[in-house]
Amino acid sequence: MVRSVNEAALPSRVAMMGGTFDPVHLGHLRSAVELHEALGLDCLHMVPAARSPLRDTPQVTPEDRLALLRLGIGDTPGLVADPRELSRSGPSYSVDTLAELRELYGAEACLVMVLGHDAFLRLPEWRDPQRLFRLANLVVIDRPDHETPWSEALRELMAGREVEDRADLLAVPQGRALHLRLPSRMALSATEVRRRLAAGESVRYLLPEAVESYLLTHGLYRPASA
Ligand code: ATP
Repeated sequence: MVRSVNEAALPSRVAMMGGTFDPVHLGHLRSAVELHEALGLDCLHMVPAARSPLRDTPQVTPEDRLALLRLGIGDTPGLVADPRELSRSGPSYSVDTLAELRELYGAEACLVMVLGHDAFLRLPEWRDPQRLFRLANLVVIDRPDHETPWSEALRELMAGREVEDRADLLAVPQGRALHLRLPSRMALSATEVRRRLAAGESVRYLLPEAVESYLLTHGLYRPASA
């Protein structure tokens, strides 16, 4: 979906994909590219969390995870490695990041928070989930092997927000939600990448080569004794 010249004056379409990116892999990057295309986005911010409130502390520093993300994105048009959560103190809450992006792009912009289905299932546990929808729309990307039923809290949070068509989501600055099945649905997770690295197994073609090369050179994700 490429925007025509006549649409150039329309409000910005911007998305935010937060995550631990521990490390970034082709599941993240290919989803980001396909989402950028599918929604005709101006920009997709990929935002590594300094410290995720709902996860154990990653074994690799935020600075290394950001460096890997930058290498992974390379010169991909429309994708940006956004360091803003690394410069805030305390846990990284998406609601704070969305508030900053709303401030940056203005009230009219269509702002989208992007989540994989696994992350979506835990949305009611996030800080101020109702406010997330006062700041942004939500797009949930289908992932293989995540068919778990919704909790009661999630059903309540989502009531009246879901739209079937991407145009209905893009028509408003915030408040709506859409489930998308992207063309390349990759059964790939950072957990599996870390497991392979710790076991000394190959990660070739699971990550961009520049990412693989950085983490092998710096000995990241190897067991402490290696
Ligand atoms: P882990 O295995 O450590 O939980 P992850 O691979 O799920 O990590 P995160 O950094 O937690 O990666 O993910 C950031 C965001 O990207 C989340 O919303 C997650 O659902 C989504 N995501 C991760 N992998 C994929 C994938 N293969 N396809 C689509 N979305 C993905």
